[in-house]
Amino acid sequence: MNETSRPLFVPETSPCNECPAGVMHLRHITYFTWLGQELITVPNFPAWVCDMCGKREYDEQAISWLTMLLSPNAGKPTRRVQRTRRPDPRTPNISQPSFD
Ligand SMILES: [Zn+2]
Repeated sequence: MNETSRPLFVPETSPCNECPAGVMHLRHITYFTWLGQELITVPNFPAWVCDMCGKREYDEQAISWLTMLLSPNAGKPTRRVQRTRRPDPRTPNISQPSFD
């Protein structure tokens, strides 16, 4: 029995929904967001970037992780953002940071 050769890894690409020919690649960029009056930068933030139109989409899981970190209930968010290990979008079980 000979299975068709399967790639050993899942390619980190997905079709772009903005342009017909574009392919979105998983890149790690520096994400900027404002928290009140403070500019937060998050290095190595996973984002999908289209190689045709340049459309950028942030990884959903990473966004919800970041939102959780930046939530007003989370205590002191700014410091934590920079020190948290970067999430791997292909590993769904990111352990929840503790807010103690
Ligand atoms: Zn595109």
